[in-house]
Amino acid sequence: MNTKTAFDLIFRNTRTRSSATPVDIGVAGGRIAAIAPRLVCEAAEIDVGGRLALPGFVDTHIHLDKACLLGRCRHDHGNVNEAIAAVAAMKRDFTVEDVYARGARVIERAIVHGTTRMRTHVEIDPRIALRGFEAIKALKRDYVWALDLSICVFPQEGLTNDPGAEELLIAALRDGGEAIGGCPYMDTDPNAHLEKIFDLAQEFDVDVDLHLDFDLDPSWWHLEEVCRQTERRNYQGRVAIGHATKLSALPPERLKAAAVRLAKSGVAVTVLPATDLYLMARDATHNAPRGLTVAHKLVENGVLCSVATNNVLNPFTPFGDASLLRMANFYANIAHAAVDEFDVCLDLVTDLPARLMNLRDYGISVGNPADIIVLDTDSGRGAIAELPDVLMGFKSGRQTFERQRPMLFPPKS
Ligand SMILES: [Zn+2]
Repeated sequence: MNTKTAFDLIFRNTRTRSSATPVDIGVAGGRIAAIAPRLVCEAAEIDVGGRLALPGFVDTHIHLDKACLLGRCRHDHGNVNEAIAAVAAMKRDFTVEDVYARGARVIERAIVHGTTRMRTHVEIDPRIALRGFEAIKALKRDYVWALDLSICVFPQEGLTNDPGAEELLIAALRDGGEAIGGCPYMDTDPNAHLEKIFDLAQEFDVDVDLHLDFDLDPSWWHLEEVCRQTERRNYQGRVAIGHATKLSALPPERLKAAAVRLAKSGVAVTVLPATDLYLMARDATHNAPRGLTVAHKLVENGVLCSVATNNVLNPFTPFGDASLLRMANFYANIAHAAVDEFDVCLDLVTDLPARLMNLRDYGISVGNPADIIVLDTDSGRGAIAELPDVLMGFKSGRQTFERQRPMLFPPKS
């Protein structure tokens, strides 16, 4: 076979998660054209030096529109309701330019930390109207060279109790909304909220990604109603629930039963470690519960799960660098993941969220876009354990960033 001029770019000496020995990855026309040891070609070359290549991280749940608000309000919020109220008060004054600037700051951090796909939740209600949505659409367009941004529109402050919100949601779904979210715990009629969200999802043929069951009281939940709606509408594989911290308060046998229910109805779970840890159990004086649902255990029981960023530098989470590798390491540490579970922890920010978002072209496989990041480690387990630098990234075969390795300056002897 004559492969001498078949590639535009070739990654030499690359470890992937599916190859035990280093391989070369050939790129042509922005797509992965070949994966094999020692490809013969005359293309531009990058010697990866045996390091790990991944197809980029996938963040299924982030709020770009309310990121980077530290300093605009007091930060004495004790729970999720106070955080929501703090942002509600601020967002009346959000402009398109303001949301764009804050969102761009987070997107650029995410890009240099290796994220190549992202679903952002965008608040739609009479206070912000479509200003946040317009800014996010502009960000999607302006950063397409580095990251695929998918837009999930949702009513953060309720739906049936918030006149005007439904009309705005419909306008957003007509004009670029790619998924619909919901927040039934903020609605005076949670079941009617869910019914309406699923109605709109079906009407516009979009996936559903909800905020759900965000406290530590397992005596009641909306999970069952979501599973019921999913099955009734034949929406298996198209529904995700974020937080689901109530599951962290269940004993093992009840958690197992919930996992079976979720798996059977095809409802995915997104765990948001930074926010869940920050907002749960703040009233505990000692032995505070972690308030974090163990996603890797749910995965064992057939539930599709992801770990994601959620909030960055705002009343919900006054931390954040948009690094999903750091979040996966953080998750593994808090969730008591065993070393042989580190690979699943990496799956939680790569392959599994890609499935959650129903991405059909993700992964280092021939025919997919050449979305490739290189980590300064040689294995998936090392990626979680060592928290290595992400050294470079490519989107559709074009380089999007590079990180210089640190240099030591030992004294001359
Ligand atoms: Zn969220």
